[in-house]
Amino acid sequence: MAIGSTEMMIVMQESATPEDVERILELLESAGARGHVSTSDLVTVIGIAGERDVIAGLPLEAYPGVDKVLPILRPYKLVSREFRRSDTVITLGETCLGGGHIALIAGPCSVESRAQLLEAASIAKEGGATMLRGGAFKPRTSPYAFQGLGVEGLEILAEARGQSGLPVVTELMDPRHLEVVAEYSDVIQIGARNMQNFQLLSAVGQVENPVLLKRGLAATIDELLMAAEYIVREGNDRVILCERGIRTFETATRNTLDISAVPIIKQRSHLPVVVDPSHAAGKVDLVEPLSLAALVAGADGLMIEMHPTPETALSDGVQSLDPRQFAAVAARIKDVIAWMGKSLG
Ligand code: PEP
Ligand code: MN
Repeated sequence: MAIGSTEMMIVMQESATPEDVERILELLESAGARGHVSTSDLVTVIGIAGERDVIAGLPLEAYPGVDKVLPILRPYKLVSREFRRSDTVITLGETCLGGGHIALIAGPCSVESRAQLLEAASIAKEGGATMLRGGAFKPRTSPYAFQGLGVEGLEILAEARGQSGLPVVTELMDPRHLEVVAEYSDVIQIGARNMQNFQLLSAVGQVENPVLLKRGLAATIDELLMAAEYIVREGNDRVILCERGIRTFETATRNTLDISAVPIIKQRSHLPVVVDPSHAAGKVDLVEPLSLAALVAGADGLMIEMHPTPETALSDGVQSLDPRQFAAVAARIKDVIAWMGKSLG
């Protein structure tokens, strides 16, 4: 069925029964539309995808259990705050992200060797990280730069997860690798350069793994949210948004961290937001202040590049914290999390 552009949602009464919801889904289906059900705060909401004229003619408000039918005013629905009022909380094994649970994702830019990654994992764990990052498929600006270890890197990540107990985040660049990345990792990262690779977004919408979606280098906040909508409308609503800096005229940093994106995204969407100060700043000494600022602005997590020996790193060594720096930054992060009354993981 082709999905039309209608932006409507049905808010059910608290007393609505599953049969009431079922009746509405049947009505929508018979009209060639599709309902997407979400329940939070005891309220069930049905987002509608279908042709505007057809839906406008349906007697939805007369159906039992219906409280109101509202237009969704933004070009995305399922990820909007209107659609779901409470924060999405993503649980991965023992750790949570969102709704007051802060994730600390740490690890090297790239998986370079078994020894490097296992050491990084133990440093991450010791510093209190709740997840491990590491790229096996690397999106490099130059085709001559290190492109990642591929499947071998994924195997190393899985081994590090086994040893450390930390869920693993790694990037997917090509839908042909979806199955293997989904199998070896916990969270699938979609990098900034692929934020609007719509086929890749739809593909990750069809797996169980949560998706960490990074903001494109020149993407607006609403474009990021529409990219997330591509994933969620395929059925995968465990999407984590990531602000990682945008291109501006400023040359003092690699990118400009758009700190205001954090509260704006939280106003517009129920999805959790993580900040990546490493790619935003491109400099080790900016990682701590930007991390703390992100937390205070309301971020649900941080993703920080750390390397056992940054001077030997095959990618992004200049922005990667060494073990001692990571321990110091992580300690400040934990202080701020506690001060805010939130919890790590
Ligand atoms: C990364 O996190 O490894 C990465 C390549 O970041 P970005 O897509 O934000 O440039
Ligand atoms: Mn990197």
